[in-house]
Amino acid sequence: MSDSTGRRIMVTGGLGFVGSFISEAFAQRGDQVTVVDSCVSSVVEAEELKAPSGSVEFVGESVEDYLVKLGSLDGFDMVVHCASYVGPASILQYAGQLGPAIVNTTSMVIEKCILADIPMVNFSSAEIYGKSGLLQEDGDIRVPPYFNPRIEYALGKLTAESMCMNSKDRGLRSATIRPFNVAGPRQSRFGGFVMPTFVQQALEGRPLTVFASGLQKRAFLSVTDLCRFVTDHLDDAAFRNPKVYNVGNPHNETEIYALAERIKEKTGSESDIIYADSTAIYGPQYEEAESFEKLPEIKNAASLGWAPTVTLEELIDETISYYRSHADMRGMNARL
Ligand code: UDP
Repeated sequence: MSDSTGRRIMVTGGLGFVGSFISEAFAQRGDQVTVVDSCVSSVVEAEELKAPSGSVEFVGESVEDYLVKLGSLDGFDMVVHCASYVGPASILQYAGQLGPAIVNTTSMVIEKCILADIPMVNFSSAEIYGKSGLLQEDGDIRVPPYFNPRIEYALGKLTAESMCMNSKDRGLRSATIRPFNVAGPRQSRFGGFVMPTFVQQALEGRPLTVFASGLQKRAFLSVTDLCRFVTDHLDDAAFRNPKVYNVGNPHNETEIYALAERIKEKTGSESDIIYADSTAIYGPQYEEAESFEKLPEIKNAASLGWAPTVTLEELIDETISYYRSHADMRGMNARL
């Protein structure tokens, strides 16, 4: 898709962590990008986006309000739907509203894309796998017999995925992405994400707070590898055969305590690494990951010729370098 520039692309949530990189990637390829963002979760100002002059139009409204006002998506070539509440800590304040927010917004995008006959990229989440330990696109999804915001979030995302898939016969061309532990510059610690939290704790000389045993494993994906999947590998053929794509980097596996040690070493920080109780910090609604291993199986994305390239070392370095010279735009409201 990198040669087919000059399109008009709408990125919802385009000032969020993932959306901002997606917007820049399309704009740098010669596309015209309309960023729609209500600034609820924005991590960058519109004028800070690294894009050729005049290539980005910013609309500071909710997706719903903008789509109602706009009426039709005629003139657009694609929608990349990134707008969503995000982060295990920051979703807690929206308990009971997460499900409808995800479903209602995605529903509007779907209907508008069908009417305009344009494809849609739907950003879902690896959260839909919950604690099932089955991280394959064609594996069963198990729902635990209790409720908390994390489960509401996952079920909202799973419903949105189903809506995309089931709308194929109504003419929707779509692709759904389940990102796994995306990290990189601009990601806010406000969401509770571990990489920006540890990096900023280390740079500020505060203790690095390891939850649970610290032996739980995660595999971190660079946001730029994720963008490349969207910009270079989702062509028309992929949209006509709607699928779910795990997008993650299984090579960047690490235990969380080891990640804290690596970040401390790389920053040269004097910070202590401590064990912390996540529910004492974020409240009883926060769900701890325990020793669950979240390592993606990426066969669908690989079948399109995509492979992640940014190593864990590079990813840590980029995040450190960013937070040495930038403030975390949402960090002042973070608990850690
Ligand atoms: N984590 C941690 N300290 C923190 C934040 C997170 O030890 O301050 C752990 C968390 O328990 C989880 C891992 O780091 O095991 C990744 O957390 P994150 O929220 O970034 O991603 P997710 O749990 O959604 O995979």
